[in-house]
Amino acid sequence: MSGGPAKTKRVVIIGMGDTGVLVASRLSRDFQVTGISTKPNLVSGQELGKRLADLNWWQRFYNTPLHRFKALSSVEIRHAKATSVDLDNQTVTVLDQRKLETRIPYDFLIIASGTSNGFWRDDSLRSEADIDAQLQSDARAISEARSIAIVGGGPCGVSSALNIQRAYPDKTVSLFISADLPLPGYHASARQYYHQELINVGVRLFTGHRAITPTPAPRAGTIHFESGQSAIADTIIWSTGDRKPHTDFLPNELLDDEGFVKTRSTLEVGGRDNVFAIGDVASTDPARSSARNWAYGVLVHNLKRRAAGRAANKRYTPPANRWGSIVGPQDTGLTLHQDSGKTTRLSRWLVDKVLLPTVVQRVIYRGVKRLER
Ligand SMILES: Cc1cc2nc3c(=O)[nH]c(=O)nc-3n(C[C@H](O)[C@H](O)[C@H](O)COP(=O)(O)OP(=O)(O)OC[C@H]3O[C@@H](n4cnc5c(N)ncnc54)[C@H](O)[C@@H]3O)c2cc1C
Repeated sequence: MSGGPAKTKRVVIIGMGDTGVLVASRLSRDFQVTGISTKPNLVSGQELGKRLADLNWWQRFYNTPLHRFKALSSVEIRHAKATSVDLDNQTVTVLDQRKLETRIPYDFLIIASGTSNGFWRDDSLRSEADIDAQLQSDARAISEARSIAIVGGGPCGVSSALNIQRAYPDKTVSLFISADLPLPGYHASARQYYHQELINVGVRLFTGHRAITPTPAPRAGTIHFESGQSAIADTIIWSTGDRKPHTDFLPNELLDDEGFVKTRSTLEVGGRDNVFAIGDVASTDPARSSARNWAYGVLVHNLKRRAAGRAANKRYTPPANRWGSIVGPQDTGLTLHQDSGKTTRLSRWLVDKVLLPTVVQRVIYRGVKRLER
Protein backbone atom coordinates (compact mmCIF):
# COMPACT_ATOMS: atom_id res chain seq x y z
CA MET A 1 0.00 0.00 0.00
CA SER A 2 1.34 3.49 -0.77
CA GLY A 3 1.66 6.14 1.93
CA GLY A 4 -0.93 8.34 0.08
CA PRO A 5 -4.69 7.90 0.26
CA ALA A 6 -4.82 5.42 3.14
CA LYS A 7 -3.40 8.09 5.51
CA THR A 8 -6.93 9.42 5.64
CA LYS A 9 -7.97 6.36 7.66
CA ARG A 10 -7.58 6.51 11.40
CA VAL A 11 -6.43 3.57 13.51
CA VAL A 12 -6.94 3.80 17.25
CA ILE A 13 -4.94 1.43 19.46
CA ILE A 14 -6.04 0.89 23.05
CA GLY A 15 -2.96 -0.01 25.10
CA MET A 16 0.64 0.88 24.20
CA GLY A 17 2.45 -2.01 25.84
CA ASP A 18 4.58 -4.59 24.06
CA THR A 19 2.12 -5.27 21.25
CA GLY A 20 0.48 -1.85 20.88
CA VAL A 21 3.89 -0.27 20.23
CA LEU A 22 4.85 -2.94 17.69
CA VAL A 23 1.62 -2.59 15.76
CA ALA A 24 1.66 1.24 15.86
CA SER A 25 5.23 1.33 14.56
CA ARG A 26 4.18 -0.75 11.53
CA LEU A 27 1.00 1.17 10.74
CA SER A 28 2.12 4.78 11.20
CA ARG A 29 3.43 5.13 7.64
CA ASP A 30 0.05 4.35 6.03
CA PHE A 31 -2.51 5.46 8.59
CA GLN A 32 -3.22 8.22 11.08
CA VAL A 33 -2.52 6.32 14.28
CA THR A 34 -3.63 7.27 17.79
CA GLY A 35 -2.30 5.22 20.68
CA ILE A 36 -4.22 5.45 23.95
CA SER A 37 -2.23 4.44 26.98
CA THR A 38 -2.60 4.60 30.73
CA LYS A 39 1.21 4.78 30.91
CA PRO A 40 3.44 7.31 29.13
CA ASN A 41 6.07 4.55 28.97
CA LEU A 42 6.21 1.05 27.58
CA VAL A 43 6.54 -0.75 30.90
CA SER A 44 7.12 -4.26 29.71
CA GLY A 45 5.57 -7.28 31.38
CA GLN A 46 8.73 -9.23 30.58
CA GLU A 47 11.52 -10.37 32.89
CA LEU A 48 9.90 -9.84 36.31
CA GLY A 49 12.82 -11.55 38.06
CA LYS A 50 15.35 -9.15 36.57
CA ARG A 51 13.12 -6.21 37.39
CA LEU A 52 13.07 -7.17 41.07
CA ALA A 53 16.69 -8.29 41.37
CA ASP A 54 18.53 -5.98 38.94
CA LEU A 55 16.34 -2.92 38.36
CA ASN A 56 19.04 -0.72 36.76
CA TRP A 57 19.69 -3.26 34.03
CA TRP A 58 15.96 -3.93 33.51
CA GLN A 59 15.11 -0.21 33.17
CA ARG A 60 17.52 0.16 30.23
CA PHE A 61 15.56 -2.18 28.02
CA TYR A 62 12.12 -2.69 29.53
CA ASN A 63 10.91 0.73 30.76
CA THR A 64 10.95 3.08 27.78
CA PRO A 65 9.08 6.40 27.46
CA LEU A 66 6.89 6.14 24.35
CA HIS A 67 8.40 9.35 22.89
CA ARG A 68 11.76 7.58 22.59
CA PHE A 69 10.47 5.10 19.96
CA LYS A 70 11.50 6.54 16.61
CA ALA A 71 8.74 4.77 14.69
CA LEU A 72 6.11 6.43 16.89
CA SER A 73 7.12 9.98 15.92
CA SER A 74 3.98 10.44 13.80
CA VAL A 75 1.72 8.57 16.22
CA GLU A 76 -0.55 10.66 18.41
CA ILE A 77 -0.14 9.39 21.96
CA ARG A 78 -3.02 10.03 24.35
CA HIS A 79 -2.05 9.51 27.97
CA ALA A 80 -5.51 8.47 29.11
CA LYS A 81 -7.66 5.48 29.96
CA ALA A 82 -10.23 4.10 27.53
CA THR A 83 -13.53 3.95 29.40
CA SER A 84 -15.96 2.84 26.67
CA VAL A 85 -16.20 1.88 23.02
CA ASP A 86 -19.19 2.65 20.82
CA LEU A 87 -18.98 0.08 18.03
CA ASP A 88 -21.83 1.50 15.93
CA ASN A 89 -20.55 5.08 15.94
CA GLN A 90 -16.91 3.98 15.86
CA THR A 91 -15.65 6.01 18.81
CA VAL A 92 -13.59 5.38 21.92
CA THR A 93 -14.18 7.49 25.02
CA VAL A 94 -11.15 8.24 27.17
CA LEU A 95 -10.55 9.89 30.53
CA ASP A 96 -7.26 11.66 31.21
CA GLN A 97 -5.46 12.54 34.46
CA ARG A 98 -7.31 15.89 34.70
CA LYS A 99 -10.58 13.86 34.57
CA LEU A 100 -11.35 15.30 31.13
CA GLU A 101 -13.44 13.04 28.92
CA THR A 102 -12.84 12.95 25.14
CA ARG A 103 -14.36 10.91 22.33
CA ILE A 104 -11.95 9.69 19.66
CA PRO A 105 -13.29 8.47 16.30
CA TYR A 106 -11.74 5.51 14.49
CA ASP A 107 -11.94 3.66 11.20
CA PHE A 108 -10.07 0.69 12.68
CA LEU A 109 -9.77 -0.23 16.33
CA ILE A 110 -7.01 -2.39 17.84
CA ILE A 111 -7.44 -3.71 21.36
CA ALA A 112 -4.03 -4.31 22.98
CA SER A 113 -4.83 -3.50 26.59
CA GLY A 114 -3.19 -6.57 28.16
CA THR A 115 -4.00 -8.11 31.52
CA SER A 116 -3.34 -7.41 35.18
CA ASN A 117 -0.99 -10.00 36.55
CA GLY A 118 -0.01 -9.63 40.18
CA PHE A 119 1.42 -6.31 41.44
CA TRP A 120 3.60 -5.69 38.39
CA ARG A 121 1.01 -5.05 35.69
CA ASP A 122 -2.15 -2.99 35.93
CA ASP A 123 -4.40 -0.62 34.00
CA SER A 124 -4.15 2.43 36.29
CA LEU A 125 -3.36 5.85 34.90
CA ARG A 126 0.17 6.62 36.01
CA SER A 127 2.77 9.33 35.36
CA GLU A 128 6.42 8.60 34.66
CA ALA A 129 7.24 9.57 38.28
CA ASP A 130 4.55 7.18 39.62
CA ILE A 131 5.98 4.36 37.51
CA ASP A 132 9.49 5.02 38.76
CA ALA A 133 8.41 5.21 42.40
CA GLN A 134 6.60 1.89 42.10
CA LEU A 135 9.54 0.14 40.45
CA GLN A 136 11.94 1.42 43.12
CA SER A 137 9.66 0.43 45.96
CA ASP A 138 9.16 -3.13 44.60
CA ALA A 139 12.93 -3.60 44.22
CA ARG A 140 13.50 -2.20 47.75
CA ALA A 141 11.00 -4.66 49.23
CA ILE A 142 13.28 -7.43 47.95
CA SER A 143 16.62 -5.91 48.91
CA GLU A 144 15.42 -5.17 52.47
CA ALA A 145 13.80 -8.58 53.13
CA ARG A 146 15.69 -11.47 54.72
CA SER A 147 13.16 -14.09 53.58
CA ILE A 148 11.20 -14.01 50.33
CA ALA A 149 8.42 -16.41 49.41
CA ILE A 150 7.21 -16.77 45.85
CA VAL A 151 3.92 -18.46 45.17
CA GLY A 152 3.36 -19.98 41.72
CA GLY A 153 5.59 -21.95 39.36
CA GLY A 154 4.98 -20.17 36.03
CA PRO A 155 7.68 -18.12 34.28
CA CYS A 156 7.22 -15.10 36.57
CA GLY A 157 7.57 -17.21 39.72
CA VAL A 158 10.56 -19.17 38.45
CA SER A 159 12.26 -16.04 37.10
CA SER A 160 11.73 -14.19 40.39
CA ALA A 161 13.01 -17.05 42.56
CA LEU A 162 16.09 -17.72 40.48
CA ASN A 163 17.13 -14.13 39.87
CA ILE A 164 16.57 -13.03 43.47
CA GLN A 165 18.48 -15.97 44.89
CA ARG A 166 21.40 -15.38 42.50
CA ALA A 167 21.51 -11.66 43.27
CA TYR A 168 21.19 -12.21 47.03
CA PRO A 169 22.74 -15.58 47.94
CA ASP A 170 22.35 -14.87 51.70
CA LYS A 171 18.57 -14.43 51.59
CA THR A 172 16.15 -17.31 52.10
CA VAL A 173 14.16 -17.65 48.89
CA SER A 174 11.31 -20.18 48.83
CA LEU A 175 9.24 -21.11 45.80
CA PHE A 176 5.88 -22.81 46.40
CA ILE A 177 4.33 -24.62 43.44
CA SER A 178 1.27 -26.82 43.26
CA ALA A 179 2.61 -29.34 40.70
CA ASP A 180 5.66 -31.60 40.86
CA LEU A 181 7.57 -29.53 38.32
CA PRO A 182 7.58 -25.79 37.59
CA LEU A 183 6.57 -24.16 34.28
CA PRO A 184 3.35 -25.84 33.15
CA GLY A 185 2.80 -25.29 29.42
CA TYR A 186 6.53 -25.48 28.62
CA HIS A 187 8.28 -28.45 27.05
CA ALA A 188 9.15 -31.21 29.55
CA SER A 189 12.88 -30.61 29.08
CA ALA A 190 12.54 -26.91 30.04
CA ARG A 191 10.57 -27.93 33.12
CA GLN A 192 13.24 -30.42 34.22
CA TYR A 193 16.00 -27.94 33.49
CA TYR A 194 14.60 -25.23 35.78
CA HIS A 195 13.65 -27.69 38.47
CA GLN A 196 17.35 -28.56 38.75
CA GLU A 197 18.59 -25.00 38.20
CA LEU A 198 16.45 -23.65 41.07
CA ILE A 199 17.81 -26.29 43.42
CA ASN A 200 21.41 -25.70 42.26
CA VAL A 201 21.18 -22.00 42.96
CA GLY A 202 19.84 -22.60 46.48
CA VAL A 203 16.11 -21.84 46.14
CA ARG A 204 14.00 -23.84 48.60
CA LEU A 205 11.53 -25.49 46.24
CA PHE A 206 8.26 -26.75 47.72
CA THR A 207 6.29 -28.88 45.25
CA GLY A 208 2.68 -29.97 45.82
CA HIS A 209 1.93 -26.76 47.78
CA ARG A 210 -1.29 -25.14 46.61
CA ALA A 211 -1.69 -21.80 48.39
CA ILE A 212 -4.99 -20.26 49.44
CA THR A 213 -5.02 -16.82 47.78
CA PRO A 214 -6.76 -14.21 49.93
CA THR A 215 -8.05 -10.92 48.49
CA PRO A 216 -6.14 -8.69 48.77
CA ALA A 217 -3.10 -10.97 48.78
CA PRO A 218 -0.68 -9.90 51.56
CA ARG A 219 2.77 -8.63 50.47
CA ALA A 220 4.32 -9.96 53.70
CA GLY A 221 3.44 -12.33 56.57
CA THR A 222 1.79 -15.75 56.44
CA ILE A 223 0.82 -17.91 53.47
CA HIS A 224 -1.71 -20.65 54.10
CA PHE A 225 -1.85 -23.81 51.98
CA GLU A 226 -4.80 -26.08 51.17
CA SER A 227 -2.99 -28.88 53.02
CA GLY A 228 -3.29 -26.89 56.27
CA GLN A 229 0.43 -26.01 56.29
CA SER A 230 1.65 -22.43 56.38
CA ALA A 231 4.82 -20.39 55.76
CA ILE A 232 6.02 -16.95 56.85
CA ALA A 233 8.13 -14.49 54.85
CA ASP A 234 9.24 -10.84 55.02
CA THR A 235 8.13 -10.38 51.41
CA ILE A 236 5.66 -12.46 49.41
CA ILE A 237 5.42 -12.44 45.62
CA TRP A 238 2.15 -13.87 44.36
CA SER A 239 2.53 -15.11 40.80
CA THR A 240 -0.30 -17.58 40.58
CA GLY A 241 -1.18 -16.73 36.98
CA ASP A 242 -4.44 -15.17 38.06
CA ARG A 243 -4.76 -12.81 35.09
CA LYS A 244 -7.50 -10.24 34.80
CA PRO A 245 -8.09 -8.95 31.28
CA HIS A 246 -8.30 -5.16 30.86
CA THR A 247 -11.63 -5.16 29.05
CA ASP A 248 -14.08 -3.35 31.35
CA PHE A 249 -14.49 -0.68 28.68
CA LEU A 250 -15.66 -3.07 25.96
CA PRO A 251 -19.20 -4.17 25.09
CA ASN A 252 -19.99 -7.71 26.32
CA GLU A 253 -20.60 -8.96 22.79
CA LEU A 254 -16.84 -8.83 22.16
CA LEU A 255 -15.90 -10.85 25.25
CA ASP A 256 -15.71 -14.54 26.08
CA ASP A 257 -16.84 -16.05 29.38
CA GLU A 258 -13.60 -15.09 31.13
CA GLY A 259 -13.70 -11.50 29.85
CA PHE A 260 -10.99 -11.86 27.17
CA VAL A 261 -11.59 -10.54 23.66
CA LYS A 262 -13.04 -13.14 21.26
CA THR A 263 -10.34 -13.11 18.61
CA ARG A 264 -10.16 -15.10 15.37
CA SER A 265 -6.95 -16.53 13.95
CA THR A 266 -6.88 -13.51 11.59
CA LEU A 267 -6.79 -11.38 14.79
CA GLU A 268 -10.12 -9.88 13.81
CA VAL A 269 -12.66 -9.60 16.59
CA GLY A 270 -15.76 -11.74 16.08
CA GLY A 271 -18.42 -10.15 13.92
CA ARG A 272 -16.65 -6.81 13.26
CA ASP A 273 -14.66 -6.02 10.11
CA ASN A 274 -12.79 -3.11 11.62
CA VAL A 275 -11.87 -4.33 15.11
CA PHE A 276 -8.71 -6.34 15.86
CA ALA A 277 -7.14 -7.63 19.08
CA ILE A 278 -3.66 -8.80 19.99
CA GLY A 279 -1.53 -9.75 22.97
CA ASP A 280 -2.46 -11.07 26.39
CA VAL A 281 -6.01 -9.70 26.14
CA ALA A 282 -6.80 -11.59 22.90
CA SER A 283 -8.38 -15.00 23.26
CA THR A 284 -6.66 -16.55 20.23
CA ASP A 285 -5.62 -19.78 21.98
CA PRO A 286 -5.61 -21.16 25.55
CA ALA A 287 -2.17 -19.63 26.26
CA ARG A 288 -3.24 -16.29 24.69
CA SER A 289 0.15 -16.21 23.08
CA SER A 290 -0.19 -13.54 20.38
CA ALA A 291 2.08 -11.03 22.18
CA ARG A 292 4.84 -13.27 20.89
CA ASN A 293 5.36 -15.42 17.82
CA TRP A 294 5.31 -12.48 15.39
CA ALA A 295 1.53 -12.12 15.50
CA TYR A 296 1.82 -8.34 15.05
CA GLY A 297 2.83 -9.00 11.41
CA VAL A 298 -0.41 -10.94 10.87
CA LEU A 299 -2.50 -8.11 12.33
CA VAL A 300 -0.77 -5.38 10.31
CA HIS A 301 -1.11 -7.36 7.07
CA ASN A 302 -4.78 -8.15 7.63
CA LEU A 303 -5.69 -4.61 8.68
CA LYS A 304 -4.05 -3.23 5.54
CA ARG A 305 -6.06 -5.73 3.46
CA ARG A 306 -9.27 -4.64 5.16
CA ALA A 307 -8.42 -0.99 4.53
CA ALA A 308 -8.02 -1.83 0.85
CA GLY A 309 -11.48 -3.49 0.83
CA ARG A 310 -10.19 -7.05 0.78
CA ALA A 311 -10.67 -9.97 3.17
CA ALA A 312 -8.05 -10.82 5.78
CA ASN A 313 -5.99 -13.77 4.59
CA LYS A 314 -3.16 -14.37 7.09
CA ARG A 315 -3.68 -16.51 10.15
CA TYR A 316 -1.95 -16.64 13.49
CA THR A 317 -0.84 -20.15 14.42
CA PRO A 318 0.14 -20.54 18.07
CA PRO A 319 3.04 -22.89 18.90
CA ALA A 320 2.36 -26.15 20.77
CA ASN A 321 4.51 -25.14 23.76
CA ARG A 322 5.52 -21.81 25.22
CA TRP A 323 9.02 -20.75 24.26
CA GLY A 324 11.54 -17.96 24.73
CA SER A 325 13.54 -16.67 27.64
CA ILE A 326 12.30 -17.68 31.08
CA VAL A 327 14.73 -16.12 33.54
CA GLY A 328 16.43 -13.48 31.35
CA PRO A 329 20.17 -12.97 30.91
CA GLN A 330 22.45 -14.39 33.60
CA ASP A 331 26.22 -13.86 33.93
CA THR A 332 26.69 -17.05 31.92
CA GLY A 333 24.37 -15.87 29.11
CA LEU A 334 20.76 -16.17 28.01
CA THR A 335 19.05 -19.52 27.62
CA LEU A 336 16.25 -19.57 25.06
CA HIS A 337 13.88 -22.52 25.21
CA GLN A 338 12.33 -23.51 21.92
CA ASP A 339 8.90 -24.94 21.27
CA SER A 340 10.53 -28.30 20.41
CA GLY A 341 12.36 -28.50 23.74
CA LYS A 342 15.73 -27.53 22.26
CA THR A 343 17.71 -24.84 24.06
CA THR A 344 19.98 -22.16 22.61
CA ARG A 345 22.52 -20.31 24.75
CA LEU A 346 23.59 -16.77 23.83
CA SER A 347 26.59 -15.22 25.55
CA ARG A 348 26.02 -12.28 27.88
CA TRP A 349 28.09 -10.08 25.57
CA LEU A 350 25.86 -10.99 22.62
CA VAL A 351 22.71 -10.22 24.64
CA ASP A 352 23.85 -6.84 26.01
CA LYS A 353 25.68 -5.64 22.90
CA VAL A 354 23.71 -7.18 20.02
CA LEU A 355 20.42 -8.87 20.91
CA LEU A 356 18.80 -6.14 23.03
CA PRO A 357 20.16 -2.93 21.45
CA THR A 358 20.22 -4.16 17.85
CA VAL A 359 17.78 -7.02 17.33
CA VAL A 360 15.11 -5.92 19.80
CA GLN A 361 15.44 -2.11 19.91
CA ARG A 362 16.62 -1.40 16.38
CA VAL A 363 15.00 -4.19 14.34
CA ILE A 364 11.90 -5.25 16.26
CA TYR A 365 11.00 -1.81 17.70
CA ARG A 366 12.56 0.12 14.76
CA GLY A 367 14.84 2.35 16.77
CA VAL A 368 14.86 3.91 20.25
CA LYS A 369 16.24 7.43 20.74
CA ARG A 370 19.16 7.70 23.13
CA LEU A 371 18.57 9.23 26.56
CA GLU A 372 19.41 12.95 26.66
CA ARG A 373 22.15 13.67 29.15
C1 LIG B 1 9.38 -8.89 21.41
C2 LIG B 1 8.69 -9.67 22.53
C3 LIG B 1 9.40 -10.70 23.17
C4 LIG B 1 8.81 -11.42 24.20
N1 LIG B 1 9.54 -12.39 24.80
C5 LIG B 1 9.02 -13.07 25.83
C6 LIG B 1 9.78 -14.09 26.49
O1 LIG B 1 10.90 -14.37 26.11
N2 LIG B 1 9.20 -14.75 27.54
C7 LIG B 1 7.92 -14.45 27.94
O2 LIG B 1 7.42 -15.07 28.89
N3 LIG B 1 7.17 -13.51 27.33
C8 LIG B 1 7.68 -12.80 26.29
N4 LIG B 1 6.93 -11.86 25.66
C9 LIG B 1 5.52 -11.67 26.06
C10 LIG B 1 5.30 -10.74 27.24
O3 LIG B 1 5.73 -11.33 28.43
C11 LIG B 1 3.79 -10.40 27.43
O4 LIG B 1 3.02 -11.40 26.86
C12 LIG B 1 3.53 -9.03 26.82
O5 LIG B 1 4.18 -8.08 27.66
C13 LIG B 1 2.04 -8.70 26.70
O6 LIG B 1 1.92 -7.57 25.88
P1 LIG B 1 0.52 -6.82 25.69
O7 LIG B 1 0.77 -5.73 24.71
O8 LIG B 1 -0.56 -7.78 25.42
O9 LIG B 1 0.18 -6.19 27.11
P2 LIG B 1 0.96 -5.11 27.98
O10 LIG B 1 2.40 -5.02 27.58
O11 LIG B 1 0.62 -5.41 29.40
O12 LIG B 1 0.30 -3.72 27.53
C14 LIG B 1 -1.01 -3.33 27.81
C15 LIG B 1 -1.01 -1.83 28.00
O13 LIG B 1 -2.35 -1.36 27.95
C16 LIG B 1 -2.56 -0.41 28.98
N5 LIG B 1 -4.00 -0.36 29.26
C17 LIG B 1 -4.75 -1.26 29.94
N6 LIG B 1 -6.03 -0.88 29.98
C18 LIG B 1 -6.12 0.29 29.28
C19 LIG B 1 -7.18 1.18 28.99
N7 LIG B 1 -8.43 0.97 29.41
N8 LIG B 1 -6.89 2.30 28.26
C20 LIG B 1 -5.62 2.54 27.81
N9 LIG B 1 -4.57 1.73 28.09
C21 LIG B 1 -4.82 0.62 28.81
C22 LIG B 1 -1.71 -0.97 30.13
O14 LIG B 1 -1.42 -0.01 31.10
C23 LIG B 1 -0.46 -1.38 29.35
O15 LIG B 1 0.39 -0.28 29.18
C24 LIG B 1 7.47 -11.13 24.61
C25 LIG B 1 6.75 -10.10 23.96
C26 LIG B 1 7.34 -9.38 22.94
C27 LIG B 1 6.57 -8.29 22.24
